[in-house]
Amino acid sequence: MITPVLPTYARADLEFERGEGPYLFTTSGERYLDFGAGIAVNALGYTHPALVAALVEQAGKVWHLSNIYKIPGQEKLARQLVDATFADTVFFTNSGAEALECAIKMARKYHYAGGASERHDLITFEGAFHGRTLATIAAGGNAKYLEGFGPAMPGFVQVPFGDVKALEKAIGPNTAGVLIEPVQGEGGIRVLPNEDLRRIRALCDEAGILLVLDEVQTGFGRTGQLFAHELASITPDIMAVAKALGGGFPVGACLATESAARGMVVGTHGSTYGGNPLAMAVAGAAVALMTKPEFLAHVRDMGVKLRQKLAMLVDQHPTIIESVRGEALMLGLKTRVTNTELVEALRAEHMLTVGAGDNVVRLLPPLIIDETHLDEAIEKIGRACVALEAKIAAAPVKAAGGVA
Ligand SMILES: *Cc1c(COP(=O)(O)O)cnc(C)c1O
Repeated sequence: MITPVLPTYARADLEFERGEGPYLFTTSGERYLDFGAGIAVNALGYTHPALVAALVEQAGKVWHLSNIYKIPGQEKLARQLVDATFADTVFFTNSGAEALECAIKMARKYHYAGGASERHDLITFEGAFHGRTLATIAAGGNAKYLEGFGPAMPGFVQVPFGDVKALEKAIGPNTAGVLIEPVQGEGGIRVLPNEDLRRIRALCDEAGILLVLDEVQTGFGRTGQLFAHELASITPDIMAVAKALGGGFPVGACLATESAARGMVVGTHGSTYGGNPLAMAVAGAAVALMTKPEFLAHVRDMGVKLRQKLAMLVDQHPTIIESVRGEALMLGLKTRVTNTELVEALRAEHMLTVGAGDNVVRLLPPLIIDETHLDEAIEKIGRACVALEAKIAAAPVKAAGGVA
């Protein structure tokens, strides 16, 4: 019999009741160290006092206003984002996928407004993830997510991950732009080298097409910079963000230069809830904290230290972990066991992580962690590796071929 909650997730049998900093507590009071952070959402940890205060204060004023009126929180947050980035203008959404929908529409409309309506295709990389709407599953190109949902929405061309030559060849008269994640998240913490990102920026400029970045997961300090593209010293034309933006309150945004947004005039796009006052209040408080230089310096410091400690674990447990990759506090452990085995072994140690493609376990801790949390994490990962090594040693050797 079907469950009251549509069963589209294979959920772990864990029920959390409250959180505090980087910890979650189950209904039975057990404490878990959360290195998943709601999949890179809870960047400021749980129950951050500044976010709680912002939410409570706004809750006593007004919860919802239609976008047919000016919304003060929206104007303030848009100004904060414009001041902190390449962007001149911002559209607010409720999720990452909706931010991407706006980005995709904007890229197409840019060319339409310039008299080149045939430029409607976006080039993406294999392994991409942009969300679960019909347009974003088409953009991601993952066959598993497209299967059974009818014809994939046209307008997306995919090339192998990191193959800049193939990308260059794919640019043609129908190309509107390039849509990529600077570091693939769901795809397995696959970092696009800085020189590749710079080359792609140059290719877009030469062809007169737009660079659209999906920084939904990489954004707001996760990679040690406010945005991952800063590592390559380039800027996009359009950028989708979400996840950490609201520190757990659902909110996303599509940022753009004035030029890229030239087609998005009155009536071309909208959202009932997008830019909701509650979301704006919390995100405003979150962005004020996450844009501080000392906040980003802390993320870089923790990132370096965590990576050093993880490198030692790789040396100690080479049959379990093959390598560490990623940037700052967006790290992936490429495993030699299946990634779900390590995720489960870590859960048994009361540590939460997230699986990803390419047999990777993602470490996405709240960005406010300190060294004690790093040490606790390393201890737990070490113990999980020992448990998996014991399990492998006890397992019958398959290749012996006795039973078949
Ligand atoms: C999570 C994610 C999305 C989708 O965000 P939703 O809020 O789930 O719609 C899009 N792109 C990237 C890179 C993501 O990590």
